[in-house]
Amino acid sequence: MDLIEVRETRIARRRNDLTFGAHEVALGGGSWLFSEPQPGIHGLVDLTGLGWEPIVESPDGGLEIAATCTLAELRRMPRHPARPADALFAPAVDALLGSWKVHNVATVGGNVCLALPAGPMTSLTAALDGVAVIWMPGGGERRLPVTEFVLGVRRTALRPGEVLRAIELPAVALAARVAMRRIALSELGRSAAFVIARVDAGGEFVVTITAATPRPYQLRFARMPGDRELAHAVSAIDDWHDDAHGAPDWRRAMTLRFAEELRNELTTRSVARDGATP
Ligand SMILES: Cc1cc2nc3c(=O)[nH]c(=O)nc-3n(C[C@H](O)[C@H](O)[C@H](O)COP(=O)(O)OP(=O)(O)OC[C@H]3O[C@@H](n4cnc5c(N)ncnc54)[C@H](O)[C@@H]3O)c2cc1C
Repeated sequence: MDLIEVRETRIARRRNDLTFGAHEVALGGGSWLFSEPQPGIHGLVDLTGLGWEPIVESPDGGLEIAATCTLAELRRMPRHPARPADALFAPAVDALLGSWKVHNVATVGGNVCLALPAGPMTSLTAALDGVAVIWMPGGGERRLPVTEFVLGVRRTALRPGEVLRAIELPAVALAARVAMRRIALSELGRSAAFVIARVDAGGEFVVTITAATPRPYQLRFARMPGDRELAHAVSAIDDWHDDAHGAPDWRRAMTLRFAEELRNELTTRSVARDGATP
């Protein structure tokens, strides 16, 4: 839609261009910004002109995903045998039930910064211990786990003038065995519960709960927990999201069920078998 209050769109070409006026905001792919009226926004600063490499493999086996990496680019990334968790990328992108047009423009950073509970890039990157690299105004940089970056519905830890530059995924998490479960109220509905579990090489079991809660919750166990221990930990969460996409008690029940299914799956699945279960 036309944003009738926007008077200027600037394309950022270098870091110095990332100065924001009081009524200016960052523009990623624009799939949300241009989807509804934006009262009070008079200027957009387009980040896609900065030319950030979408996905960079780091020497230690981790990945750096640029904030401007599109969902389509992430989905196309070739899987690597040393990174079984790559298997999560395609189903996580597909969890955003938009057409290829949306997937071709929507960015990983835009999805995380929008901070909707059903943000699948938040689900994915939180589950893989993603670290948000934040560019501060004036040239500094700070880092925060994605689980601490998304604070609630449409709320992040970004301060005025800050931009999400990238999300780093550590090699340990990418090398983990992974599995996921997701449910929506209707076949093409927005995620109501999205649970991702992983078992790291050292045996740590990590369950990340998103969509069912306003912000990501992560449960970590030094070894595979028993069914009661896991259910107890999930039940201790007292923060279930309530909107048109699902009632809190149903989201809680689905999360409990999914966590137990994932515990069983990752207990029994052979280490050699690689893959995520949508
Ligand atoms: C059909 C359809 C279905 C959708 N389904 C979902 C869904 O299931 N779940 C969901 O979460 N969203 C959904 N969306 C909303 C939206 O498309 C996605 O969240 C998308 O990933 C947003 O990314 P973007 O790059 O287009 O963000 P933009 O629209 O460009 O920006 C979104 C917000 O993030 C800010 N921003 C963007 N990049 C940065 C950055 N690097 N640093 C700081 N701030 C930044 C912007 O200022 C803005 O506030 C859907 C949209 C459509 C059209």
